[in-house]
Amino acid sequence: MAEHTIRVAIYLRLSRDNGGSTSIAAQREDCRALCDSRGWEVVSEVEDVDISGSLPADRRPGLKRLIAMLDRLDILLVAQPDRLSRSTAVALSLLRDLDSAGTTLATARDHLDTATADGRRKFLSAVADAESESGLIQARICRSRLSLREVARWIGGNAPYGYRIVADGKGGKRLAPREENADRMRWIVEQILEGESVAAVCRALNSAGVPSPGTVSSRTGKVSPWSPTVLRRMLQSPALLGHRTVGSGRERRAVTEPDGRPVCVGPPLIATETWDRLQATLAARRTTAQRPRLRSSLLLHVAHCAECGAWLHYNSRRLLEGGGTNDVYRCADGCKVLVSAARLEEAVQQWALREFGRLPFVARIPLGLGQTDTYMEELQSQIEQLASRLASLRGLAADAVQRQFESRSSLLEELQAAPAVRWEWAPTGKSVSEEWESRGDGGRRQILLDLGVRVTVSSANNQRRWNPDRLRISATGPGPLLARAVG
Ligand SMILES: [Zn+2]
Repeated sequence: MAEHTIRVAIYLRLSRDNGGSTSIAAQREDCRALCDSRGWEVVSEVEDVDISGSLPADRRPGLKRLIAMLDRLDILLVAQPDRLSRSTAVALSLLRDLDSAGTTLATARDHLDTATADGRRKFLSAVADAESESGLIQARICRSRLSLREVARWIGGNAPYGYRIVADGKGGKRLAPREENADRMRWIVEQILEGESVAAVCRALNSAGVPSPGTVSSRTGKVSPWSPTVLRRMLQSPALLGHRTVGSGRERRAVTEPDGRPVCVGPPLIATETWDRLQATLAARRTTAQRPRLRSSLLLHVAHCAECGAWLHYNSRRLLEGGGTNDVYRCADGCKVLVSAARLEEAVQQWALREFGRLPFVARIPLGLGQTDTYMEELQSQIEQLASRLASLRGLAADAVQRQFESRSSLLEELQAAPAVRWEWAPTGKSVSEEWESRGDGGRRQILLDLGVRVTVSSANNQRRWNPDRLRISATGPGPLLARAVG
């Protein structure tokens, strides 16, 4: 019996051949390589250049020829799913043609084939991704709106930034992109997605002298700078998708039809998929942008506010320019006390090592692990978990976690302040300095707590210059014990 040869047709497509990884040559090379490695016979190869992937087969000359010869093909091979189609509707119709001819679709780059349920699912999902990437769904939603009897019109005042108001040819108005501002808006979105903060983008725009939306729409010619609050709201607004919105500020939302479809009054400035990613990015960063970020740090429970007695919390702030950090400790109760984290940590470390560094390090050895001790360890780990979760939460969830964090922290502090009757102090053979050098921030904090080190920080009184007199450092714990051990 003669060996059956697998007959393959290669389909190459590009909207515009401008080289790169999807160029016709690159697609051909990948398809040919797969055929060679599998021993498949290439019986035909066609290209559709300058042809959109959303067009149906009968409007693509090359693909049309292949469809006509499907009964002589075992496999239709493309480099990747979106080369066959960027429209799920077109892809489904092509799959039906292939199925009825008994031909399998295969892809060269990710080795999919539609002979299996899994392969079909992955293929269609890749096409759906390509579809939303190209903004086709948005355009279709907007087209379908316009075909309805009541045309969605722009009503209301100023056009959202990135748009201008134009006549819709039917006596009404709609939105069209104002190219310069639309491009700027896309640039802003790109910056945010690449990790830039909203505040940093505002600063860049202001220093480049770019007129803010407020300046653009001002009737009196008043010049106002870009503000992070306003820009954040613009980035969260579905107006970027050409949807009509109602409400202002935080309450702004898209107007929808009863079936949930948005009312489109203009073309989208960015793809839906990009908008979704933008929302996720902004939501994830909200914590850092708007509320102090708590984490366990060297001086958690060691540093206190001299004005009100509350703890100082570590607050990580990214420097807007220069890429460095400007981390601070600030009063957990919200009074004005705020101090550079680097200055404070440096001062406490110097003081503690000067006072205790040369002393032998005496470890706290528990005299039988009592209930309190295991409970304290558990508390400590709960507190650390809560602190790390807090950074990624916002709104009510963040408030709830913050309350848990605070109640557990004060309980732990209470327990730690209790007389250490259960502990025994035993020399380890190392000095405090040596032990300090070998530990990270968490371990060093434990040393400070063991030594009973406490620092209070008073207000800077609006003086920008660093003043060490703001600090009062003392050790109330077993520091004297250590001294005795030496003496
Ligand atoms: Zn305070």
